[in-house]
Amino acid sequence: MKAGIVTEKGKIACGEWKTPEVTAGKVLIEVKACGICGSDVPRVLGDEARYYPIVIGHEFSGIVKEAGSGVTTLRPGDRVAGAPLIPCMKCDDCMSGHYALCKHYSFIGSREQGAFAQYVCIPEKNAIRFNDTVSFEQGAFFEPSTVALHGILNSGYTGGGLTAILGGGTIGLFTALWAKLFGARSVCVFDINEERLALAGKFGVDQTINTGEGHFREAVMDYTHNRGFDFVFETAGVSVTQLLAYEIASNKARVTFIGTPHSPLTFTQKIWENLNRKELLVTGTWMSYSAPFPGREWTLTAEYFSDGRLHFDRSLIHKTFTLEHIDQAFELFKNPQEVKGKILVLTT
Ligand SMILES: [Zn+2]
Ligand SMILES: [Zn+2]
Repeated sequence: MKAGIVTEKGKIACGEWKTPEVTAGKVLIEVKACGICGSDVPRVLGDEARYYPIVIGHEFSGIVKEAGSGVTTLRPGDRVAGAPLIPCMKCDDCMSGHYALCKHYSFIGSREQGAFAQYVCIPEKNAIRFNDTVSFEQGAFFEPSTVALHGILNSGYTGGGLTAILGGGTIGLFTALWAKLFGARSVCVFDINEERLALAGKFGVDQTINTGEGHFREAVMDYTHNRGFDFVFETAGVSVTQLLAYEIASNKARVTFIGTPHSPLTFTQKIWENLNRKELLVTGTWMSYSAPFPGREWTLTAEYFSDGRLHFDRSLIHKTFTLEHIDQAFELFKNPQEVKGKILVLTT
């Protein structure tokens, strides 16, 4: 089959790869679409590939081509999204349903063959069926939606509060959408990119604030009547927003860190002290799984996508590339500021 193969740091190209064989309890998926996740970029352009050659890609959708023996819930022809984590199911964390915290896991698209390929073989439980009101392109957005929803669930989110989302990328937008669905009094998205903010507005966000503008802190205070936000979600993983999260939180706010950090972070005493003075409740959140595996993050995404309560349209997609041109898709990330939305690799 054809696959996008990373052969060394900085080098990815479409080439021939062995088609996976379907084994007991697994299904062979004919991949239709696979998104490029922020975490995939250093696997190609940086040093984060686990080995070479490797086929990555974990935000995918496709059609069940073949079901292995013992598979009871899926049939050839089913439209599915893939959940990439394969937890051990035996350790204390897995037994408690905290699959993302498992230390003996495998992962489709980093530890084993991913979905920048014509076919990928995954456990039955990792395939989430969706109906035909959901396109395959939309199916590639299950994973980012579930990461956002897991953050909302982990934050102990309750309706009726002022909610800030730091970072207007794909995860930030889905966090905003889920917060609205969970009854936010209002949702305000922060970003430095006007196009992303415009997209957030189009998706029904109540307010957007450009953090590149000098007086944005005053805008925050005006908007929240000098109280700050009841819920703050950091989704960008960069130090500016990581620090800002403590600043714009209200007294007794819940602050949730979803974005993966990539560089060292220094707190001034004044910023750190917000934790004390405001009695903040701070939590991190990792991936998107709960019991029963893969969790309601996935089943709710399928349900809310299919009836349109979770809004989707193609403006979330910045560009699409065929698998043959996957090298060009990653080329774009050499100027990350130019990437205004999700990049999808379409296989067929
Ligand atoms: Zn991802
Ligand atoms: Zn485990």
